[in-house]
Amino acid sequence: MIVPILYADFNNTFASSRDTNLWAISLHTYGSLKDLSNQGVRLVEEMPIVIYMDSAEGEDLEADAMTYFDPTYKCWMAEIDQNKIRYVPSHTELWDQKVFLCLQCRQDLASFFVEHQRNFESCCPNCELPIIAATLPPNSAQFQ
Ligand SMILES: [Zn+2]
Repeated sequence: MIVPILYADFNNTFASSRDTNLWAISLHTYGSLKDLSNQGVRLVEEMPIVIYMDSAEGEDLEADAMTYFDPTYKCWMAEIDQNKIRYVPSHTELWDQKVFLCLQCRQDLASFFVEHQRNFESCCPNCELPIIAATLPPNSAQFQ
């Protein structure tokens, strides 16, 4: 099984609501959404993922994480052990990726965003799936 790798803002860190010894990093950013959509992955509970963020020139922070949906923040979280954050060479292949592939029909929406602005309420002009489909809450009507 391929573990999805996605951007996460390590500055957006809380104590995990499930285990206060662990950190929870929210996954509400556009960078997280873009990486997930491009890899064709929708977040579900207890999904192993890898998260990364830029650290220094040529270097990223990276950590293994587990997903959970936080009912208080109404947001997906990546739960990590802060002692296991590692430094790795930059994920240039991800940083350089300009496309945004619709989760469902795989159309590249990058030029659509340029034309219509990027808005979390937008839907794919081809299949009408919300562009935020990859990070919708677990019980969304979209997936019933
Ligand atoms: Zn689509």
